[in-house]
Amino acid sequence: MNNHYNSIYKKDLVEPEVFPSLKNNIECDVSIVGGGFTGLSSAIELAQAGLNVCVFEKEYIGYGASGRNGGHLVQGWSTDFCKLQKSINKNDHKMAWDAGIEAVGIVTNRIKKYNIKCDLQMGYVYAALHKRHLSELIEMKQEWSNFGYKNLEVLGNKKNLQKYVNTDRYIGGLVDTGSGHLHPMKYLHSLARIAKNLGVKIFEKTFIIERHDNATVLKTNKGFDIKSSKILFCGNAYLEGVSTKRMTDKLAPAISSVMATKPLPKSLIQNLIPKNCAVADCNTALNYYRFDSNDRLIFGGSSIYSNISPRDATPGLYKKMVYLFPSLKNIDIEMSWSGRIGITLSRIPHFGKLNKDVLFTQGYSGHGVALTALAGKLMSEDILGKTNRFETLSKISHLTFPGGMFRTPVLALGMSWFKFKDWLRI
Ligand SMILES: Cc1cc2nc3c(=O)[nH]c(=O)nc-3n(C[C@H](O)[C@H](O)[C@H](O)COP(=O)(O)OP(=O)(O)OC[C@H]3O[C@@H](n4cnc5c(N)ncnc54)[C@H](O)[C@@H]3O)c2cc1C
Repeated sequence: MNNHYNSIYKKDLVEPEVFPSLKNNIECDVSIVGGGFTGLSSAIELAQAGLNVCVFEKEYIGYGASGRNGGHLVQGWSTDFCKLQKSINKNDHKMAWDAGIEAVGIVTNRIKKYNIKCDLQMGYVYAALHKRHLSELIEMKQEWSNFGYKNLEVLGNKKNLQKYVNTDRYIGGLVDTGSGHLHPMKYLHSLARIAKNLGVKIFEKTFIIERHDNATVLKTNKGFDIKSSKILFCGNAYLEGVSTKRMTDKLAPAISSVMATKPLPKSLIQNLIPKNCAVADCNTALNYYRFDSNDRLIFGGSSIYSNISPRDATPGLYKKMVYLFPSLKNIDIEMSWSGRIGITLSRIPHFGKLNKDVLFTQGYSGHGVALTALAGKLMSEDILGKTNRFETLSKISHLTFPGGMFRTPVLALGMSWFKFKDWLRI
C-alpha cells in the first residue's frame, strides 16, 4: 500500500511549490540544514529579524517527519515536566514550563497572522485504557493546574469519555482544549511560502555532506561551498551526512506508522468523535488518531523501536482501529506510510551547540509539531542575542543510549517490557 508518496498529505497538496537545487557556491548569515518544521520555523524567525538565511533540504520540503506525522498539535514538553525540572536549576523552572506551553501558541499565532489554511482544529483527548492511566491523567491535570494551565478537564468515567470518543475500550480520559490537530504538509508548505516571501532562499535536492572542522563552511554532494556566520542542524531523526557522535549517541529513531481511510460518511464521523478532537491513548505503543477535513480517519500507531520501516503497516493498524471502533470493519483504506521519530532516553528534546556558531535541536520524542516551532524561536533568540533560553535548555544533560551501534535492538528490547506492562494493564 506504500507508494512513492511519503504520506497522504503530499497527495493532498495542490500544485506544491518546487524549489531549485544549489548550483553554485553561496554565502549567507545563517545556513539551515533540513527543510522540516524546525528548519523553516527557524528561517522565518531569523528572516523576520532581517538576517540573510538559506535552507538546504536533501530531498524535498516535507520529506522527513514533518511531512509524515499524525498532525497532533500537543501542548507542553514531551515528557512529564517533573523530569525536566530535575534536570535544570530551580531558577529556570518557570522559564522552562512557560517555554513548553508557548509552543502551541507560536503555531496558532502564526496560522492566524499569515492566514495559513491548514485545517487547524482545537480539542484533544488523552484516553485511559485502565485505572493506572486514569490516575496518571488526574495527576497530570493537578500538576498542570498548579502551573496555571486551565484548559484541562478530567473525564472520570466511560460515559463522559464517550461524549468525545465513542468506543467501549476506554474507561475515561482528559480533554485539553489548548491542543488540537492540523494538516502537517499544508502547514509546512505554508511555512516555506512565508519564509520565501521574507527573503529566505530554499534549496531542495541539496544534500549537505560535510562541515569543515570547527568552521561554518558546509559542502554539498555536488561540491559547492556554503559560507555563513551560523549553522543550524535541523535534521532530527533524518539528519545524514553531517551528524556528530555527540548528537547520534543521544538520539534513537523509532518508526511510527500512520494509515488514512477513504472518506467516511459524516454521520459516522459525528458518531465516533462527536467534537472532532484528536485522540491519543496512554499506552507506551500508543494509538493516535483524528478525522481530517477530507473525512478520513488518520490513524497512527505501531511504534517499532528499530530503524526498519514495515513493508505494509496497514494490517497492524487496521486491527487496532477495528478493536477500538468495530463499526469500521470492512471500510476501505486509502494509504499507509511510516516515518522516523527522533527520541531521547528521557524524552526531553535535545538542544545543543557543537561550537558557538553551530546549533542543533533534535529528539522531540513525538511532540515535534508544536515543539519544533519553539526550537526555531529559541535558536533564533540565541543567534540574535535576545535571550539565554536556548543556552539554559542546552545545559540539560542527556544520557547516551546503551548498546552503541546495537542501540535500536536494545531499545526495542527495553520497550517490549513497557508494551508487556501495557498489555497486562498494570
Ligand atoms: C509517523 C510519525 C507520526 C508523528 N506524529 C506526530 C504527531 O502527531 N504530533 C507531533 O507533535 N509529532 C509527531 N511526530 C514527530 C514530528 O513529526 C517531528 O518531531 C517533527 O516533524 C520534526 O521536524 P524536524 O523539522 O526537526 O525534522 P524533519 O521533519 O524530519 O526534517 C528534517 C529534514 O532534514 C533533511 N536532511 C537531513 N540531513 C540532511 C542533510 N545532510 N542535508 C540536507 N537536508 C538534510 C531531511 O531530508 C528532512 O527533510 C511524528 C513523526 C512521525 C514519523
